[in-house]
Amino acid sequence: MAIHILDKSFKSYLSKEEIAARIDALAERINHDYAGKNPLLIPILNGSFMFASDLFKKLTIPAEISFIKLASYKGTQSTGNVITAIGLETDIFQRHVIVVEDIVDTGKTLSIFLPQLAHQQPHSLNVCALLHKKEATVHPIDITYLGFEIPNLFVVGYGLDYNGQGRNLDCIMQVAD
Ligand code: 5GP
Repeated sequence: MAIHILDKSFKSYLSKEEIAARIDALAERINHDYAGKNPLLIPILNGSFMFASDLFKKLTIPAEISFIKLASYKGTQSTGNVITAIGLETDIFQRHVIVVEDIVDTGKTLSIFLPQLAHQQPHSLNVCALLHKKEATVHPIDITYLGFEIPNLFVVGYGLDYNGQGRNLDCIMQVAD
């Protein structure tokens, strides 16, 4: 089914069932890998709010979550600058940290943000991303927990927006034109 958001059409790409099944598998790995470690999830707003919420609900081990916000993404291409807008209130020193991202595109965002976190000396630092556009890579990022590799096409839904719209879709749709 195709839908229109602003000036673009989008077609179905990942159903809510496919997303949920993948999140179950990611959560199972995190439950296993972080048992007894009380991990701190750090999701990056806005795009990762839905993914982070569904993932967090599937964790059965003690775990904490603290959202942060970096410069927002505008239009259909990654913007250059990344600015921390809402800071991290939890002390991450010696914590097991998992950064939760909606999508890794060029890798620029995390290439700037991960060193900032590493500077605060967490015990461990891993990335959990729902989507990865491998072909768009400029800054390679080590994604320990990945939902889906996707082609280098713009997607919306499940927290991801097109100029502010489309975040409320429960599935992920791909640009059709
Ligand atoms: P990167 O810094 O890796 O190039 O870009 C990461 C950010 O770009 C993501 O957190 C997301 O906000 C945005 N982004 C990249 N590709 C897409 C896309 O296909 N759709 C949407 N809605 N945002 C994207």
